Amino acid sequence: MCSEGGERGSWTSQQLVIELDRILDLLGEEDLHLLPSESLGDDLKGLTRIGNRIDAEASRRLHRFDKDQGYAASGALTAQAWLRWQCNFTAATASERVQVSRQMDSLPETEKAFSQGEISYRHTALIARTASQLGDKFEAHAETILVRAARELDPWRLKRACMSLRHCFEPDGFLADANEAHQRRFLHLSQTFDGVFRIDGWLDGEGGAALQTALDSLLSPPAADDERTPRQRRADALVEMARRQLDGGELPQVGGQKPHLMVTVEMATLSKQPGSTAAELEWAQPIPAESARRIACDCSITPVFCGAESHQVDAGRTRRAIPPARMRALLVRDKGCRFQSCDRPPAWTDAHHIIHWADAGSDELANLVLLCRRHHYRVHEEGWRLSWGADGELVAAPP
Ligand SMILES: [Zn+2]
Ligand SMILES: [Zn+2]
Repeated sequence: MCSEGGERGSWTSQQLVIELDRILDLLGEEDLHLLPSESLGDDLKGLTRIGNRIDAEASRRLHRFDKDQGYAASGALTAQAWLRWQCNFTAATASERVQVSRQMDSLPETEKAFSQGEISYRHTALIARTASQLGDKFEAHAETILVRAARELDPWRLKRACMSLRHCFEPDGFLADANEAHQRRFLHLSQTFDGVFRIDGWLDGEGGAALQTALDSLLSPPAADDERTPRQRRADALVEMARRQLDGGELPQVGGQKPHLMVTVEMATLSKQPGSTAAELEWAQPIPAESARRIACDCSITPVFCGAESHQVDAGRTRRAIPPARMRALLVRDKGCRFQSCDRPPAWTDAHHIIHWADAGSDELANLVLLCRRHHYRVHEEGWRLSWGADGELVAAPP
């Protein structure tokens, strides 16, 4: 192959690219099982560096292609359009690539580090973006600082360094960007056809951090039997936050009432009589009888009972609340979820009736037990059975 200094002889660019392809083919043909796996680390480092160099070379060529309208002969109107068409780039990527290539002349240190494969395209684009944001305020020593940082940091951390630098040189622009990010905030909460809710949204940095901090406080390390995925645990934490707000009674009134979840359910459904209709949760679609039993079990959510015959609300809002004194005794006795191996504190729990009050179970302490939401769900919807063991421990048997 060629080296610098005129030994490339009669090789054209195209031949060189074909040669590069051929070398990659040779690498691809190598049987990796025959290599000691620890030797692959050096390969990965080398290939990453070469990948960076290839990106830098593409950028160098793109600059000339763009400046001298190399794309025009194909009928494309801009280099960006050509890149989208011929290289399948998205519009945003194509225009960023062109922007970065145009800036390389004014960023000699960045270009050098990029062409030697020391920094990636992502790093280069971040430095170029910071330079164009700062304009005249971007001084040579700023470039030196960022290139040095780029050699050491991943792009995510380099981005923070770029933002800090920008804040030093141009605090007003930094503030304007923060305001723009704030304007982009939104939240969609929509219900899909099959009844689940979907959340979509953007929060600005501060809003996202507040939510993250609140969720983290509800996400203690998972218990040994916690089979939920991290994303399921996060979803549960968000719902838990909403439930605590509703239970805490500190939310503003709606229509003259404290907001609360309302379940409309017939007694026949609650006592699981055959042929009974599904219960309805306000804002949601019909829910299974067992879910209604769980919700009505504790009554921190207000059920509305319907007459079995008339299908009209005849009892009004009925709160079958456990008397406060008994509730206090239950909290003292159980001190949190009683499910084996669970350590959720009282604030995370519901009062469960071992024999449901709809099946004539009593409100006596012996029939009550604190369960966290997850274990309460497990008992009702997933069919675990609870009983008291000889030593007074709660025994939970799988379905
Ligand atoms: Zn229950
Ligand atoms: Zn529990």
